[in-house]
Amino acid sequence: MRLYTCYYGGEKFPAAEKNGKLYRAEGFADMNDLIRRWDEFEVDMLADEVKEGYRTCSPIEPLQDVICLGVNYQEHRAEASDGIGFDKEEYSVYFSKRVSVPTGDGDVIPYYDFVEGLDYEAELGVVVGRTCVNVSAEEALDYVFGYTVINDVSARNLQKNHKQFYRGKSLDGYTPMGPCIVTADEISDPQDLEISCTVNGETRQKSNTSNMIAGVAEILSELSHGITLRPGCVISTGTPAGTGMGMKPPCFLKPGDEVVCTIEKIGSLRNICE
Ligand code: MG
Repeated sequence: MRLYTCYYGGEKFPAAEKNGKLYRAEGFADMNDLIRRWDEFEVDMLADEVKEGYRTCSPIEPLQDVICLGVNYQEHRAEASDGIGFDKEEYSVYFSKRVSVPTGDGDVIPYYDFVEGLDYEAELGVVVGRTCVNVSAEEALDYVFGYTVINDVSARNLQKNHKQFYRGKSLDGYTPMGPCIVTADEISDPQDLEISCTVNGETRQKSNTSNMIAGVAEILSELSHGITLRPGCVISTGTPAGTGMGMKPPCFLKPGDEVVCTIEKIGSLRNICE
C-alpha cells in the first residue's frame, strides 16, 4: 500500500491509495499515529476520497532525528574520500540529521547564502514499524513498516568546516522525502531496487540497492543492539556514487536546478533548488 500525507483545506492528514485514488485514513492524526496503530487500519475504512486540489507533503514528520549511513555504497567511497577527506572504516558510519521543516515532493530546497557546495544524495529511506530491540538480521525486516525516497541534501562547506556532518545536513529543507511510504509487504527485497538521481534531466546517480555495503537488515540489527528503535524512526541508508562533489570538476546545485531522486517500486521525489 502507498501511504501519503496530504494537505487540503488548511489541514494535514494521512491518506492511502486504493484503486489509483487517494483516500483519507480516517481516525488517524498523522503518519506516526497510523504507524503506531497500524493493526487498527483496514482498507475497508477508506471511504473519504481526498478532494481535488490537495498537495502531498513529506509522508512522515520524523519525531526524532533521521539516522543516516555514510559511505554505504562501494563506488561512493572514493569520491567521498576525495571530496571531503572521508574514508570508510571497518564499521558502518552512522550520523544523524534534523528535520525541523519536513520537505515533500515538489517542495523547495532552499539555497542559503552561507552554503557552498550544495549537493544531492539519493537514498533509500526505511521507516521502522515496531519497537525494535536486539533483533537479528534474519528477523530485522519484520520490523520495517515501509520504504520511501530521501534526498540527503548536504552543504559540503559546512561538513568540512565543522568537521562533522550534523549542521551541513540539518538545515531547514535539507531532507526532502517522498512521494509516499510504500509498505514493506510490497517490497520483498530492499536490496534489489534501482536507485537514481537526475539534475535538470541529466543522470548523475544510477545504481542498485544491491550495491549497499550494509543492507537494511544488517543496519537494523546492528542499531537495535543498544539503541531502541521506535515506530516511525526513519533511517537513510546511504547514497551511491555520482554526487556533485564526486564530479570532476565538482558540480553542485544552484538556484533553479531540478533534482529528481527515483527508487524502483517507490517513485520519484522532485524538488527545485531556490
Ligand atoms: Mg547521505
